[in-house]
Amino acid sequence: MTDEELKLKIAACAKCGSCRSVCTLYPERRDEQSVARGKIALIESSLAAPVPLCPGDTIPLGEESDAAIRDALADCLLCGRCERNCPNQVAVEEILVGGRTRLAGKLGLSAWKRWLFGEMLPSAGARGAIRAAGGFAQKLFLRKVPTESGLHYRFPDLAGLHGRTVPALPPSGFVASLPEGEGLIGEVLLFVGCVFDIVMPGIGRAAYETMKASGASVAVLRESACCGLPALASGDREGALKSVTKNIASIRARSPKSVVFPCGSCLTMFRREVLSLIPEGDPLRADADWVSGRCVDYATFILETGLAGRLNPMPVVEKGSVGWHDPCHLSGTLGRGGVARDLLTRVAGDAFREMAGASLCCGYGGTFNVRDYPTSGRLGANKVSLAVRGGTSTIVTACSGCILQLRDMAARFSTKTRVRHLAEIVRELLP
Ligand code: SF4
Ligand code: SF4
Repeated sequence: MTDEELKLKIAACAKCGSCRSVCTLYPERRDEQSVARGKIALIESSLAAPVPLCPGDTIPLGEESDAAIRDALADCLLCGRCERNCPNQVAVEEILVGGRTRLAGKLGLSAWKRWLFGEMLPSAGARGAIRAAGGFAQKLFLRKVPTESGLHYRFPDLAGLHGRTVPALPPSGFVASLPEGEGLIGEVLLFVGCVFDIVMPGIGRAAYETMKASGASVAVLRESACCGLPALASGDREGALKSVTKNIASIRARSPKSVVFPCGSCLTMFRREVLSLIPEGDPLRADADWVSGRCVDYATFILETGLAGRLNPMPVVEKGSVGWHDPCHLSGTLGRGGVARDLLTRVAGDAFREMAGASLCCGYGGTFNVRDYPTSGRLGANKVSLAVRGGTSTIVTACSGCILQLRDMAARFSTKTRVRHLAEIVRELLP
């Protein structure tokens, strides 16, 4: 986005401040720069021409101010609540990501981010190697925490690690565990996503098995890159484009009828963001448009195949004990929360009840969770505690970041609470 385009989008903001009342972060920070209005004003100031004090003199916005604005912009979950509730339909997310990109271009990205977004995430092989090393290290150095959602490992509560827990990394990822020749050809393509492939492969497998049980012929995109959302949100358009180019080319070459996403954030990248990364006139745009139009969420796919009507009844569990957590991207940005609820109603019957605080952000926010884990953790703990107090013992959702966050919170504060992906619930009920 050019500076002029960014200024035009900013001009739609009336600075009314309504976004403050819905901002996920405002109750934590209580300051103007944590909300959309403040962040937009900061970007506006960074775009403004230097102010002449007297003829020939100016006050240029120095690198220090740019760095401060970059930090303020990074302090946001990109949950989109401000945008969805803005009376002027300001494109807040585009403005914030545009501001981050502009400052990343001006100040540069750290070496580790360049490596992560440009080399590691686009490469399936590199991600697998990191997983193997991580799995080995967590067994050696971390303490086990068994939970209802699976084994976790806890970091020590020191040196900024804050007792965070992470899922036990399995010896092999989902794609790597597929037998040779399995899932190579099919009308429907599964885009499993990095987390459900290498960190929680059981969810990738559950999505694959239930999609196959629906009667569709299902292929797995084995050579996928990361969806590109972490790079884009960090202002690294080049890194994001590298992943997007690889994915679009691989998917288009297979010409699937549809591409199914168990993760709502990966789906948002394909449905909403990919075209904005590809310049006008680039031949990749036509392919990206073709692919984007065929991308669907897991619940929509399962409902449309009629599989929900052929499942076994759910074993008796307490009425109202199963709840749905709305991922910000899947439910808020793409509006697919209703479909997920329809599927849960079909499969869980009376056990499903609207969960207290269902639409509250879980506090993960991608890199926000790494940047400020204590705040992210408070938001997540509040979410789980509200759900548990409302009688929910199984939280179901369909986003990799939300599952990482909610399972971490359950492991730390409520080990009996189960956090499941929709596909895991459906797989348990297969005839
Ligand atoms: S982003 Fe929307 S809600 Fe927030 S100050 Fe601007 S116009 Fe008002
Ligand atoms: S995206 Fe979420 S956290 Fe960021 S300013 Fe908007 S409401 Fe607040």
